[in-house]
Formats: sequence, C-alpha cells, structure tokens
Amino acid sequence: MDHFQYKNGELHAEDVPISEIAAAVGTPFYCYSTATLERHYKVFAEAFTGQNALVCYAVKANTNQAVIRTLARLGCGADVVSQGELRRALAAGVPAEKIVYSGVAKTEEEMAFALTSGIHQFNVESEAELEQLSRVASDMGKVAPVAFRLNPDVDAKTHEKIATGKAENKFGISWKKAQDVYAQAAALPGIEVVGVDVHIGSQLTELGPFMAAFERVAGLVKELRAAGHNIRRLDLGGGLGVPYMRTNAVPPHPVEYAQMIKAVTGDLGCQIILEPGRLIVGNAGVMISKVVYVKDGEKNRFVIIDGAMNDLLRPSLYDAWHDILPVREASADVALNPVDIVGPVCETGDVFAKGREMPPLKMGDLVSLMTAGAYGAVMASTYNTRPLVPEVLVKNDQFQVIRQRPSYEDMIGLDIIPEWLD
Ligand SMILES: *Cc1c(COP(=O)(O)O)cnc(C)c1O
Repeated sequence: MDHFQYKNGELHAEDVPISEIAAAVGTPFYCYSTATLERHYKVFAEAFTGQNALVCYAVKANTNQAVIRTLARLGCGADVVSQGELRRALAAGVPAEKIVYSGVAKTEEEMAFALTSGIHQFNVESEAELEQLSRVASDMGKVAPVAFRLNPDVDAKTHEKIATGKAENKFGISWKKAQDVYAQAAALPGIEVVGVDVHIGSQLTELGPFMAAFERVAGLVKELRAAGHNIRRLDLGGGLGVPYMRTNAVPPHPVEYAQMIKAVTGDLGCQIILEPGRLIVGNAGVMISKVVYVKDGEKNRFVIIDGAMNDLLRPSLYDAWHDILPVREASADVALNPVDIVGPVCETGDVFAKGREMPPLKMGDLVSLMTAGAYGAVMASTYNTRPLVPEVLVKNDQFQVIRQRPSYEDMIGLDIIPEWLD
C-alpha cells in the first residue's frame, strides 16, 4: 500500500498533485511520501510486538536526513555501513544506542568515531577486523560490543548482485569458523561478544531462505552458549522484498516473517535486531521525469525522458523493473503500445524499460517511475555533468525540497585547475 494514487485523473503524492511539484522543482526529481514511510515502519515494527525487537532501518537504502528523522521520530534505530551514514543517522536524531554498524571494511578512524559515539553494536566480518577493533577500543580505554556476521551459505534466491549469504560471497565469516572466531574474540581485551548477525541478501520474495539461515544461526547460538559465550542478541539483517510490479506475486507480509522468526528463535531469549531497508522506503518513493522527445527507430519507438541511469541506476545495474505510470491518467479505453523508455545518457545501458506497453506519450508529458524510494537517490551520480537529482518530501497537502538540485556553478566549481595550467 502506498500513497501515490490517481485522483481526478492525476497522480498525487498524498494530497499533492505531482504536476504541482514538478512545476515548482523541475524534473527529474524524487518524491517521497511521509504517510507511506510511517505506515511501512509501523506495520513492520508492530509485527514484532511481544518480541524483544529493535528495528534498525538500513540507512543505505535512502540516506536523506528527512527520511531518517521521519522514522527516528517513531522510535526506529539505524543500521549504518560507513562513518558518513553514522554521522547522518546521528544528525537525523537516531540515538547512538539504537545504531548498529555493518560493513566489510570499517577503518580505524571509523571504528574510533563509532566507539566515541557509543553505538549499540559492531557487526564484525573478519578476524582482521576483530583484531583491529580490539586494538582501537583498548587504546581508547573502551570495550566494543560485537556480533559476528556469519555467512550461513544459503541461497537467497534473488538477483546475483544482491545475494550475500552464499559461501562464495565476500560478506561475513564462514559459519564453520564460528567457534574459532568467538573463542578468539573472548580472549581480546577490547571486545565484548554480545551476539550473532546474518544478512543473506536483498529483495527476497520467499521465507524459505530466511528460515534456513535463521535455523542455522539458532543452532549456532546453542553451540556458542555451550562453549561459554554470552550470546544475547540476534541480528537477523534485512532483505525482505517489496512488490515492484503492481500485478506481481506479493512477497511475504512482515507478520508472517515475524511469526517465522518467533518460531525459530523464540526459545533463545535474545534481543532480535532487524535491519529492513527496501521494505521501509521502496514503495514510499517515486522518480518523476518528463518526456523530452519521442523518436521512432527502425524497430522500436523510443520515449526519451529527462531522468537517466545516473539518477536511477537500478534498471541498468540489476535489470530491475519499475512500473512506469503517466502522471496524467490514461483513459481506460486507450490503446497501449510497446515503447522503449530511455534516458539521455551516452550509454546503451541507459534504459528504464524495453517494449513496455504504454499509453501514448508526447513531449512534455510527466511520467512516474514507481517503487524508487530505495537504492534510488542514494546511488545517483553526476555522470554526463548532470546535476544531482533533487529530492522532495510530501506530508498530507505540503511538500518540501529535502535535497536541492545543485547549480552548474556548484558542480563545475568543484574542479581545481592546477597552477601550471593557469
Ligand atoms: C543492505 C543491507 C540491509 C538492508 O537490506 P534491504 O534489502 O534493503 O532490506 C540490511 N543489512 C545489511 C547488513 C545490509 O548490507
């Protein structure tokens, strides 16, 4: 359920007509809905009522501070993967004690900053990282709370570029080495082992792979406790999928997910940490773009829009599908025809949809790329010296720009001409 719907023949974000925002902000831009963000967080968090659960929104899906603050106000924590994200989460108002720090390559400087901040937990991914963290913490007179991210070697049955839980992926430590690394950690002065962590991938549409991973983790917790480790937290990662096609099979509901988790881990008495990203923000955002030209090639009709792969990379990076809706609703009896919807960037991969059945579109028409709230704006670049795409947040009948489009002067002014070229 999201709050991007047609009203009086026009796509709205909550109570604001998209065309009104486009007139004020220019295109392309991202548009997020507060009501959708809040709803998704609440549905997810409430699914865990009765379990000792901490929901840590995976900030990397959408790092805008206005988005993070909207969630933080509801009590949401944060999962971060860099010092930059940690700083954003803190600046947006997430208390340090609700922040967990994931990622394969935390540097010394990042560790020191996180220790000073007093975060809830470090999710450690290698022995080398463990040793460095212990050293940094000891030097500061601190003790780092640690969970190991274990690689459970399960197939997440998702796109290969977002599967992280197979033995050949770079993430985590082999579950077969668990006893060794926990023993190693127990002997280090700057480390306090508190839990076990897994994250097997993103956009999972079945519970089976999660369950296989969590069962393996639950088994390990018992073995680790038997070996004397005080395991009291289970970080189960993110990854629950969202429907990208309005007609598509719907991924499991958070309630089913939470029930499965209770069934698999309920007897362990652990705090459960969850790191949903896409599920919270995916359907809470759209990217609005304008048709620049319509061009008939020898074989296909191209609808060239002013948004491009540098603004929304998912289709070219993951072959991802986004529903594309005209902002002015097409009448029900209009004929649909296949078109290729492409951007202006000089790359063959700058394609949003091939052979998509669309109502007639002409120059100046607005289109909405749906389900673009996660892994959209955060992956945007300025390739082809295109200004970084702005972001807008809607709440009821209000909207505000939450990241401005930079000016050409701002962009070009970042370059420095060396003295010898003066
Ligand atoms: C990316 C990531 C998440 C969030 O994944 P979603 O599929 O967006 O829910 C959670 N935890 C970790 C460690 C991640 O890297």
